[in-house]
Amino acid sequence: MRVAIVGAGAVGATAAYYLAKNRHINITVFDEGLGQATQAAAGIISPWFSKRRNRSWYHLVRLGADFYQDLVADLQQEGQQADFYQQTGVYIIKKDEDKLKDLYDLALSRRDEAPLIGDLKLLSKSEAIKDFPDLQGFETLLYASGGARVEGALLVKTLLRASRADIIKKKVSLSLEGKDYVIDGQHFDTVILAAGAWLGQILAPLGYQLDLRPQKGQLRDYYFSDLDTATYPVVMPEGELDIIPFPSGQISIGATHENDKGFDLSVDTALLNDFEIQAQHYFPYLKNASSFKERVGIRGYTSDFSPFFGPVPDLINTYTAGGLGSTGLTAGPLLGWQLAQLAQGREPLLNLEDYAVENYIVKTYQ
Ligand SMILES: Cc1cc2nc3c(=O)[nH]c(=O)nc-3n(C[C@H](O)[C@H](O)[C@H](O)COP(=O)(O)OP(=O)(O)OC[C@H]3O[C@@H](n4cnc5c(N)ncnc54)[C@H](O)[C@@H]3O)c2cc1C
Repeated sequence: MRVAIVGAGAVGATAAYYLAKNRHINITVFDEGLGQATQAAAGIISPWFSKRRNRSWYHLVRLGADFYQDLVADLQQEGQQADFYQQTGVYIIKKDEDKLKDLYDLALSRRDEAPLIGDLKLLSKSEAIKDFPDLQGFETLLYASGGARVEGALLVKTLLRASRADIIKKKVSLSLEGKDYVIDGQHFDTVILAAGAWLGQILAPLGYQLDLRPQKGQLRDYYFSDLDTATYPVVMPEGELDIIPFPSGQISIGATHENDKGFDLSVDTALLNDFEIQAQHYFPYLKNASSFKERVGIRGYTSDFSPFFGPVPDLINTYTAGGLGSTGLTAGPLLGWQLAQLAQGREPLLNLEDYAVENYIVKTYQ
């Protein structure tokens, strides 16, 4: 079996990793990589506090968060490092602290089904700063020990290395020759399209119309030579602002959700400076960073913000996942594994009807 995977973000790299376990499959991964959402992601894995009423979405992200445990165990069993994933907990801050009790109750009601949430506690400021020194701008916050952060670039690197797949770093297109798919002059019998926000660019020439739009996301990574941030929890104040500590003295601040910028990858300094000011309200020490750099990526989202995955209509042995939006690092590895299952003719864990591709990808001409 010759399988092509187009796109090596969280979805494509996980699909490659799980397909590689089947020795009868020859895998080639094509990835341009420019503006990849996975490498730009804030990396927060904490879906349990959302009040979105979309049940299929919540089911997906809950299982997606759980799936990291399996992925890490699978990698470690093979002697691979899985240091892209750290469960350092999350701190949730609300301006109206009465809302924290509601969120606490919501998460508590979800914990039987989602034990990964772990310890849930309302913490006073003096308790909270034991794990995140100098944090301020609140009296009480909500803590969940099961929240995690993922370094997207390291996730992809680890999975691709473990898959030992051929990786071709270029932008490609897809065409049909008889029963074969042709990509970059090579022939394949099965294709996984994990192209994120760019999926429409691959399918449009084949006569498809997509309900999928690009959303620009920017964040800034700050570096501190004097902070050991390895165990700091992720801080989630209200709105778009998140404060995400990574090991080695890195604290990331973001992220923007820009729906009107298309595939623009330029850095908007003014926007990120505004985030910096907001973040300093909670973490004034930010001003002591020794350096910083920006990351920009493009998320793909659908008109109802629901992700899709499954076979592409009218294309035999072609599978896709998309529309992951701002929780795609949470759902992406699970969906990548599901695509690997589908490509091998196996039953997926998730119900395909809940994430029907046909709702977002329609063939308009032959
Ligand atoms: C700033 C930012 C912050 C985020 N924060 C979070 C977060 O905290 N938590 C969370 O769960 N999610 C977060 N997300 C969302 C998450 O990152 C994405 O939803 C997820 O990574 C999408 O994964 P993907 O594999 O579908 O697509 P991508 O990671 O975008 O990968 C698609 C790849 O396909 C390649 N490609 C496309 N077309 C072609 C082609 N024709 N030829 C070759 N290669 C091609 C692209 O170059 C790209 O490398 C964030 C996203 C951004 C941008």
